[in-house]
Amino acid sequence: MPDESPAGNGASAHDTLTSRSPDRDESGWRTPTVPAKSGSREREPAAPPEPPPDCGRCPRLVAFRKRNRECFPDFYNAAVPSFGDPHARLLIVGLAPGLKGANRTGRPFTGDYAGEILYHALIDAGLAQGEYLARADDGLVLHDVMITNAVRCVPPENRPSPAEIARCRPYLRSRIESLPQLRAILALGRIAHDSVVASLGGVRARHPFTHGGAHRFDGLVLIDSYHCSRYNMNTGRLTKSMFAEVLTQAIARARA
Ligand code: SF4
Repeated sequence: MPDESPAGNGASAHDTLTSRSPDRDESGWRTPTVPAKSGSREREPAAPPEPPPDCGRCPRLVAFRKRNRECFPDFYNAAVPSFGDPHARLLIVGLAPGLKGANRTGRPFTGDYAGEILYHALIDAGLAQGEYLARADDGLVLHDVMITNAVRCVPPENRPSPAEIARCRPYLRSRIESLPQLRAILALGRIAHDSVVASLGGVRARHPFTHGGAHRFDGLVLIDSYHCSRYNMNTGRLTKSMFAEVLTQAIARARA
């Protein structure tokens, strides 16, 4: 079980503190150390930070991918890889590719409403250079930030099942562990938040999702934001200024 510490060490009322633990999983990629025949202990290999485009771990999502390849042969229709700076201090984690967004273009958040909000906020914050044209080949370059999703394949109706989220978590965990300079994670929405907490060995009940909330882990900070979806923006749950504010907070944590 993960090693957890109580809140403290100067954490704000919004902050909770947890130690990171490398061995935790319910999905099968990395299991706890197992005894080898010789009596020594060997570790199962960890997942790579990026799944293969044709990853077959989630049967329902694979079937959806096949249907989409027939319906939309010009779409990317595969597991969407992370995008950004391999030396990023900030990682932004969304939920999953949108059918006609990232699943169409092959780049996270690219081509749908949420991407308009996110990429323009990154340009305004100085973390993206170039012009965002809602295409993977628009030449946009990210600095000090990487974008990924908790689930890499498009789910029907934007709703991955708990089992699918768990199956994709080893890639998220490996993505986190593969960023050597990482200091902060900005989770967009509750599902991304929960999957990051689990990836870091935290207990969800001790790290409730709250917009603007900060959760301190050993070596990095997780910041929460409402997802910049069309629904959240249209209903006023999230505004552009709220999003800019939480992004500023995450950048400050990443550079602290
Ligand atoms: S969602 Fe993740 S684990 Fe599931 S098939 Fe896609 S890449 Fe593989």
